[in-house]
Amino acid sequence: MIIGIDLGTTNSLVAVWEGEQARIIPNALGELLTPSVVGLDDQGQLVVGNIARERLHTHPHLTASLFKRYMGSARETRLGTTVYRAEELSAMLLRSLKEDAERALGEPVHEAVISVPAYFSDAQRKATRIAGELAGLKVEKLVNEPTAAALAYGLQQRSEANFLVFDLGGGTFDVSILELFEGVMEIRASAGDNFLGGEDFDDLLVAHFISKIGNADLPDTTQPAIAQRLRREAQRVRHALGQAPVARFSLREQDREWDLELSQGDMAEVVKPLLERLRAPIERAMRDARIKVGDLDEILLVGGTTRMPLVRKLVASLFGRIPSMQLDPDQVVAQGAAIQAALQARHASLEEVVLTDVCPYTLGMEVSVKQGATVQSGHYLPIIERNTVVPVSRVQTVYTLHDGQKALQLKVYQGESRLVSNNIFLGELEIPVPPRKAGEVSLEVRFTYDNNGLLEAQVHVPINGESHRLLIENNPGVLAPEEISRRLAALQDLKVHPRDQQVNTLLLARLDRLYQESLGESREFIAAMANHFQQMLETQDEQLIRKARSEISQRLAHFDMEG
Ligand code: ADP
Ligand code: MG
Repeated sequence: MIIGIDLGTTNSLVAVWEGEQARIIPNALGELLTPSVVGLDDQGQLVVGNIARERLHTHPHLTASLFKRYMGSARETRLGTTVYRAEELSAMLLRSLKEDAERALGEPVHEAVISVPAYFSDAQRKATRIAGELAGLKVEKLVNEPTAAALAYGLQQRSEANFLVFDLGGGTFDVSILELFEGVMEIRASAGDNFLGGEDFDDLLVAHFISKIGNADLPDTTQPAIAQRLRREAQRVRHALGQAPVARFSLREQDREWDLELSQGDMAEVVKPLLERLRAPIERAMRDARIKVGDLDEILLVGGTTRMPLVRKLVASLFGRIPSMQLDPDQVVAQGAAIQAALQARHASLEEVVLTDVCPYTLGMEVSVKQGATVQSGHYLPIIERNTVVPVSRVQTVYTLHDGQKALQLKVYQGESRLVSNNIFLGELEIPVPPRKAGEVSLEVRFTYDNNGLLEAQVHVPINGESHRLLIENNPGVLAPEEISRRLAALQDLKVHPRDQQVNTLLLARLDRLYQESLGESREFIAAMANHFQQMLETQDEQLIRKARSEISQRLAHFDMEG
């Protein structure tokens, strides 16, 4: 069985195809969404998901989140005494999802389809594959998130269609334009904002609360524990305002309480600047795809934040029609990954589709530009333009610049800047040329880029008939094979927290957090509950533990609306 995984910035999910439909598999805590947070507990054991998220602010040095942003880069994060790359942190999460699937399916799982954003570069895609490998999963295929959403909506069953996928998650915004034609799904364009999501809405609500109440009156809101509480409260209020006309934003501290009533209209006013920022990427994607609003057959809403009526309204007004939102926006990508997994396994009940990709960034080379008598180096000559459907092969002719020039240095870059210094250097090759007068020797530079992210640069020199070739496969920031096995061995030693104890660990982590967040009487009260619970755990009597757990959870509901 191949599982489908949505490895998200904020939340991750695992799903399987069950012959008729995709089913999301709950984690050990019974939740469908597993927060993309990993960490070590006080015994050095691995904790994943909600438990780790509870510890994010009480144990910042032992917990990591948002690591999807660093996939494909060499950046490392410290957890306790060890540093990890984003692939490894992702692997911890993937391993947990794999185990959830194994428990639900009652059989070992070895293969997965994992979704990635359409704009992910080769390095990021490779890092995702490596993360799977580190988690003991063979990554059968990576599916682009918007394609997965389209699959979940069954759009591959149409003969031809153009559609837009609007994905607003916890911290990122992605717009993709897809075209389905003769069974081929093409991502025509993708644009977005890597720092725009639900959490940014929460930050604005917090700032609004502080400005309304007045900083002088409040406890120090820059204190991490208070800041975190405000953010949680903002999120709760934001979710509540999706249904109720008004909601109360409150902060309790010792025996004082600050309150602010917010209406849907107030929230609309507060988050307006963010809603404004959703427009530009949409326009860019439409322009890049050379498509008009009238050509779109469907607009799909993806990502938890599209549950906000304000966001839905904005989308409806931008496109002059109601977007598709029959499916749960935070589950569609995982469902689509499961469908892609079923296709991969050639499941009979689904028609197979061939998915093509685009090269999400421009590939080009460095050239010098003559301006009067001076020669300026460091300019960028695009060869394969951003959003070109792959596989693709493009050729450009360049000429020698100096009299008697003996060689040309081919320097390959990826990026959108006019100057190569702002782009990512991929590789270089020296091409010897016969010395002639400036401009007499021409070189045909051909770039070929395929679905596997392999870039081949070929240079043909007609004057002497020579050809040269540069193959770029090892992206900077991607782990070498021997490094992967070393890290695999290290990860295997990391003990996983016993699964059957996760509810208890979660409750303890929550008590811990609340203890740190509160003061005075409530703090004592929480300490008493934590001590009691610890005692019950030591009895190892499942019945006593269950009873204590349910009592404490009920009491906590009063402290912590997030439950
Ligand atoms: P990602 O793809 O970034 O991992 P998700 O698609 O799971 O993230 O989206 C997470 C975001 O969705 C969070 O910021 C959360 O606040 C938001 N969200 C979830 N449910 C709701 C809701 N009912 N109303 C508003 N926002 C919601
Ligand atoms: Mg997502």
